[in-house]
Amino acid sequence: MQKPKYNFFLNKYSFYGATKCTSCDTKTNVRKFPLFISLDKNNIYTLNLSCKFCTRCNLIIAKKDNIDKYISIELEQKGIAFDPDNYFVMGTIDSKTFWRHNKGNASSDELFDNLTPFKKVLDFEIRQAGWYKD
Ligand SMILES: [Zn+2]
Repeated sequence: MQKPKYNFFLNKYSFYGATKCTSCDTKTNVRKFPLFISLDKNNIYTLNLSCKFCTRCNLIIAKKDNIDKYISIELEQKGIAFDPDNYFVMGTIDSKTFWRHNKGNASSDELFDNLTPFKKVLDFEIRQAGWYKD
């Protein structure tokens, strides 16, 4: 396993595009990150996903809807039921290892060696109060 590098926020709000950083309000960039996702102990899924990124907070903001979509397609092909609450985004891997894994050339050991875990996993709630006027 590598040294922790990025912070992470799994954005579960479909309507929320995170064009500004959830943490510091700076404009975010779009950047692709190869994500390391644990479906269960023996099932690692890697996904090269376009995320929002804040360089100031070193924060990756990934949309849960997008991850759900890709994983459900993958699992459907394998005949496995998809549970959207039962996976864990653990970190990132480098693109070289991502492509090797995608071609079936990287073992789980190799993936775990390459895993760069998140420093902090943040959670933000969007409060309904913000949408209403008194
Ligand atoms: Zn920020």
